[in-house]
Amino acid sequence: MVPGVRLVVLGKQGAGKGTQCVRLSHHYVVPHVSTGDMLRGEVKSRTPLGLRARSAMDRGELLPDDLIMEMVGRRVTEGDTRARGFILDGCPRTIAQAKELERLLDPDPLDLVIDLEVPTPQVLKRLASRRVCVDCGSNYSVPSPPLTNWTCDVCGGEVIQREDDTEEAIQRRLDLYEAETAPLVKLYTERDLLVTINGTGSPDAVTRRVVGAIDNKRQMMRREG
Ligand code: ADP
Repeated sequence: MVPGVRLVVLGKQGAGKGTQCVRLSHHYVVPHVSTGDMLRGEVKSRTPLGLRARSAMDRGELLPDDLIMEMVGRRVTEGDTRARGFILDGCPRTIAQAKELERLLDPDPLDLVIDLEVPTPQVLKRLASRRVCVDCGSNYSVPSPPLTNWTCDVCGGEVIQREDDTEEAIQRRLDLYEAETAPLVKLYTERDLLVTINGTGSPDAVTRRVVGAIDNKRQMMRREG
């Protein structure tokens, strides 16, 4: 049986987190838990949470930690995630979220935290051409569109430019990433969980690097333990 994994993926907007997380979730047969996708689902269904979240999301602001951690807490303590693990995408984004995540997962810690690194000029280029499926969140781009007429190859949904992929909202999210999320790199380095992966090159090449890093860590743990 393929072993599961308990993974957090960090990386600035446009680093390819969403794309890699979908691939990793298939590879390890664990759910892809994306806070952005969950929140966009709430907005689309006009739930109270979605109505509250929408304008902050459109401006590129972060939502309150307690609201995010309640949503994530429910998901990472369900049967499937408890049993096999998860690929966590978009959370934690602040030190407070990271500490709350540790508490929620106790006594089973994370296996690894992947930091996908892509230079800022390159992410800005990727974000300008990024397109997503409104239904399932699959990622496309102007140079790599779906097969037919901006209709999602996976689920048939409409493929559009995200409302928060405007120049201003992108800049705000990148600034917040530096201020709030980059300190997580230090925290997870101290916990000996962080692996930095070069996120440039083809999606296949990046997936191979990530899977290689996870396999290495497992081999080391087996030897040590
Ligand atoms: P991106 O990584 O491109 O900024 P996401 O899809 O991960 O986009 O998230 C979209 C928006 O949802 C964020 O800009 C923010 O408003 C909100 N959000 C998602 N995850 C979190 C989180 N962990 N904490 C606070 N806000 C979040």
